[in-house]
Amino acid sequence: MRKIMLAANWKMNTTPNEAQELVNQMLPDLRAHSEVEVLLCPPFISTMLVSELIKNSPVKLGAQNAHYADKGAFTGEISPSMLACMCQYVILGHSERRRLFSESNQIVNHKIKSVIKYNLCPILCVGESLEENDSGRVEDVISTQLRQSLEGLSSADVAGLVVAYEPIWAIGTGRAAGGAQANTTIGIIRRVLAAIFDENTAAAARILYGGSANGANITEFLSQPEIDGALVGGASLNAAEFVSMIKHASNAKT
Ligand code: PEP
Repeated sequence: MRKIMLAANWKMNTTPNEAQELVNQMLPDLRAHSEVEVLLCPPFISTMLVSELIKNSPVKLGAQNAHYADKGAFTGEISPSMLACMCQYVILGHSERRRLFSESNQIVNHKIKSVIKYNLCPILCVGESLEENDSGRVEDVISTQLRQSLEGLSSADVAGLVVAYEPIWAIGTGRAAGGAQANTTIGIIRRVLAAIFDENTAAAARILYGGSANGANITEFLSQPEIDGALVGGASLNAAEFVSMIKHASNAKT
């Protein structure tokens, strides 16, 4: 049985004071719903602060990115070794990083190997553009992203792997994918994972949907058999909205 995960990606939003306020607004409800795995991914500057605020709670902490090197002359970057004492997860290969910071599947692959070395769990983001969707290339694009990003890894390496299916056209647009449509693509992702690794690894991996998920549509996604949760951007910056998603999630799949 895969535990439902709702992961909040705050992106480059919230000052440390705002992050503290947001956590304090949500925390009582997050504590009350430990049947859902809730993950907060604040900006790097608030990582330590949020780790203190959620101490002794079931809430997990993630980073939005990491460099692949352990340390060195990489001005402005953060390494997995720096995150390992606070975080459990690292989002890697988000489409904004791929598009705005030229991250290739090969770079994502280096990063995945590096975070695994520090016992951090990668959340690998994959997803197609509108043009790729319109031209019927979803399976091809996603399969390539998965195969190249996971190259050289064993099923033991990826135990606990989380994949987020995030169609680029749905991110921050208010135009979410349909539940059935997302379920079909996530089924494809699971089949590709089975082909790369094995059936058990594919069955154990949690695969989230991401792209304009909110309190009004989360139940539609979670009612699909292949969908194990959501990676949530905009809606996670509003405490009431995110808490409402967690409440819906705690009622789903029971
Ligand atoms: C995201 O960027 O991972 C995301 C899902 O954003 P939004 O929910 O705002 O579409």
